Amino acid sequence: MIAFNKKAFAVRAPALEWLALGSVLLVGVLISTYFIWDERALSTTADVERMRMQALVISESINRQLDGARNALVSTRAAMLPASDCRANCRELLLQSLKSAMPGVRALMVVDRNGNIVISNDDIGDSQLDDRDYKRKIETMRSPDTLYLSDPYENTRGVFNIKLSMAILNADGSSNGAVCAILNPEYFNAVMRSALYARDMNSAITESSGRHILFVPADPAEMRHPGPVSDMLFTRHQRSHLAETVLRGAAGGEQRLVVQRTMPENGLGLDRSLVVSLSRSQAAVNRGWLGLLLAVGIAWLVFGFTTGGVLAFVQRRRRLMEALAQANADEQSAAAQKVELALSGANLGLWDWNITTDMRIVDERAAAMLGYTPQELNTGSIHWRQLTHADDLPGLDATIAAHLENNAVPFEAEHRMRHRAGHWVWLQSRGKIVERGEDGKALRMLGTRMDISARKQAEAEIAHLAFYDGLTNLPNRRLLLDRLHHAISRMERSNSYSAVLFVDLDNFKSLNDTMGHDVGDRLLQMVAFRLQDVTRDTDTVARLGGDEFVILLEDLGNDRAHATSNSANIANKIVETLSDAYLLEGHDLRSTPSIGVVVFGAEHHTVNDLLRQADMAMYEAKAAGRATFRFFDPRMQVELDSSASLESDLRMAIQRQELQLHYQPVVDTNACVAGVEALLRWKHPSRGMIGPGEFIPQAEKSGLIVELGAWVLETACLQLVHWAASEKTRHLTMAVNVSARQFRQPAFVEKVLSILERTGADPYLLKLELTESMLLTDMDDVIVKMTTLKQHGVSFALDDFGTGYSSLSYLQLLPIAQLKIDRSFVQDMLHTRHASSIVRAIVTLAHSMDLNVVAEGVENHEQWSALADIGCKAFQGYFFGRPVPVQDLRLKAPAESPAMVAANCCEPPLSLVEHDQTCINNL
Ligand code: C2E
Ligand code: CA
Ligand code: CA
Repeated sequence: MIAFNKKAFAVRAPALEWLALGSVLLVGVLISTYFIWDERALSTTADVERMRMQALVISESINRQLDGARNALVSTRAAMLPASDCRANCRELLLQSLKSAMPGVRALMVVDRNGNIVISNDDIGDSQLDDRDYKRKIETMRSPDTLYLSDPYENTRGVFNIKLSMAILNADGSSNGAVCAILNPEYFNAVMRSALYARDMNSAITESSGRHILFVPADPAEMRHPGPVSDMLFTRHQRSHLAETVLRGAAGGEQRLVVQRTMPENGLGLDRSLVVSLSRSQAAVNRGWLGLLLAVGIAWLVFGFTTGGVLAFVQRRRRLMEALAQANADEQSAAAQKVELALSGANLGLWDWNITTDMRIVDERAAAMLGYTPQELNTGSIHWRQLTHADDLPGLDATIAAHLENNAVPFEAEHRMRHRAGHWVWLQSRGKIVERGEDGKALRMLGTRMDISARKQAEAEIAHLAFYDGLTNLPNRRLLLDRLHHAISRMERSNSYSAVLFVDLDNFKSLNDTMGHDVGDRLLQMVAFRLQDVTRDTDTVARLGGDEFVILLEDLGNDRAHATSNSANIANKIVETLSDAYLLEGHDLRSTPSIGVVVFGAEHHTVNDLLRQADMAMYEAKAAGRATFRFFDPRMQVELDSSASLESDLRMAIQRQELQLHYQPVVDTNACVAGVEALLRWKHPSRGMIGPGEFIPQAEKSGLIVELGAWVLETACLQLVHWAASEKTRHLTMAVNVSARQFRQPAFVEKVLSILERTGADPYLLKLELTESMLLTDMDDVIVKMTTLKQHGVSFALDDFGTGYSSLSYLQLLPIAQLKIDRSFVQDMLHTRHASSIVRAIVTLAHSMDLNVVAEGVENHEQWSALADIGCKAFQGYFFGRPVPVQDLRLKAPAESPAMVAANCCEPPLSLVEHDQTCINNL
């Protein structure tokens, strides 16, 4: 709504501004017009008044002159009467004095009825008047009191004379001549001119017929041609019958303001009435206020255009700014949309932390990770620290402090926060300082959080698997070894005794074969349960694998005999409880254990010793008829000693060339061989072919492994060189197992590089297999070694993955290219949900870290396709081929191989096709 109004206003604002400006201009113009109009009226009135005054002055001045002239004429006429006693001289004197008394009269004279001059004081000296018209008129002058006015006549060029006459009559009333006064034109001109105060003015005396008698400024042409009355203004005056009029109208081709005044009779007896007129050009009258009007008009125009221009400029500028702001806003919203898209795509929530107030604002996604809405978290009623796991707070604070201290240290932390529902959510937080005060103090941090619970859970699951058996949930071999280590070192310090019980189910294999894996698995689970039942919580019941269990009984007392009888009791109980019937799927199953027991104290032992002794004792129990237990007998040691001879034999083995490498194929999704793993075999002169499991630990223990490993590596590299010669085989990769001791030797890298150089093998085809446990000690050294070799092209695989710590965080630090899923998971994945979810987790995590995965120990088609479905792309196992001497190796699975039957190798099977690839038939 607000936005709408804003918009409407934005649309209307310019129009309103123009309206306001227009109004101001209009009001200003109106006020100015009013004042100018007033000024016009004032100036016109002043003009009219002045003209009226001047007309009055003229009229009175002329009246006086005419009155004087009449008196002079009357006196002259009287002196001319026969009865007068004034004679010729007297008359001349009279005329002379009368004339000089009147400046307006040029001459006084007496004429007879024919116009002959009887007496005159004029200097012309004519005896007769040249004005013919006048002579004709003398006859008609019959009224004694009338003052006759002649028409103007031009006797000198440009000078128009007028005569005033009075009749001299005989007794019978007939004419006897006239007395007349020739008026002085200059004088009247001067009188009239004196009334003109502006250049455009003129004045005139007009007789009733409309003819000008006098006109100033002089206009001889008009005086010469007296026409009919054409002056409309004069006519209007006449018709008005007023003594004075003020009129405006056209005259002489222009608009004029005219004041006309009819001269009063005043006893003059004039034979016609006279009108004095004074006129001004209307344009001249108007000039004053018109000028003002023009100036003011121009001023307003300039003002109008200037303010209009400024307004237009301001509006245009505003429009530009608005357009710019809009463009900015559009750009920002587009950018925000992109960020939002990226955040939602990566499932990241945002937080904004005001460090000064310790308030943290979160967005929708960040709040939803904890089951809240942003409103609930942003009001400050729930502080983020309250929600953070107490164990994680110190670490979190330390990471933040490190970042606050030094921007270069990134803030990244994994920590738990409490979900609204009560459970903990694992989050990964990353952030950055975005604002610092002038003193450099951090004021604000902005960051993201991501829910990593799923990853943490997978990690935990894999880690759990590192120590626990997936089927029975008992500690596995690794955890057992760990606990044994600890027990041994405790014993060495404490004088007390402990015991190791090696439990093997007697008939498990046949039971498994006849009743099926499911039943076998359930049986193992029940065995595990019963074992835990008869032992104390402090004892360790572990599953070594298959049907082998190991129990570690600790703190059996300081007396060997007592400890021995104690362990015998427990062993007995175990035999009893495990021999009880198992009710499985309606079957009453029976299974008995054979148990080997070894009691140990402060004397020096190794874990391997103890397990081997217990194992031996277990075989003794089996030999004694099963379903019983046996203690380790020192005589058995003799057999153990044979391992010492094994060691000395092994030293000779290399020289005697008794060692061989077998190669097991590693195949791709089409069951085509992509590479091999080299596996060591010992062709013992008396014991026949011995597997690595039997002598590698010994070699490791004695240090012989270094020599052995070098031989394996060199032999494998020579094989690569051999294969490089053929088009069919040059692509094959070679995986070589490296043992811990071998890898840890300081010159390991140099040795590998020198073997590569010596043999000329392509380092890019060589893959070294390490196990997790090797990587955990002295990480820095491990990283340096791996990185150096990687720089030379050698790649690394992590063997038996899933049985170690499986912590993904260290995986990120190491240059590993491949994970090999331990075959125990592959074998269990079709039977237990646990194993299959672990395999799935490993494959998913490996892909997310850009690692290849090889599944080990694939023994059948079901396992293969289940692995392929999960996304596994490389496989190794008896299904594709056992480890064989090089001459028996086939690049295409042999015809009798199950994989060949199932996949038909080069015609790829089922859904396992990834890319069309042609296998090579053989070497
Ligand atoms: P490994 O590296 O995990 O090698 C795979 C082992 O699994 C081999 O046993 C192989 O024969 C076996 N195997 C392969 N496919 C299947 C299958 O489908 N089912 C079953 N049940 N087993 C399968 P092998 O040859 O007895 O080797 C045992 C271990 O000895 C190897 O485990 C490796 O850790 C070690 N080893 C072998 N050769 C060498 C070597 O040259 N140097 C070192 N340091 N260790 C070696
Ligand atoms: Ca291996
Ligand atoms: Ca392996």
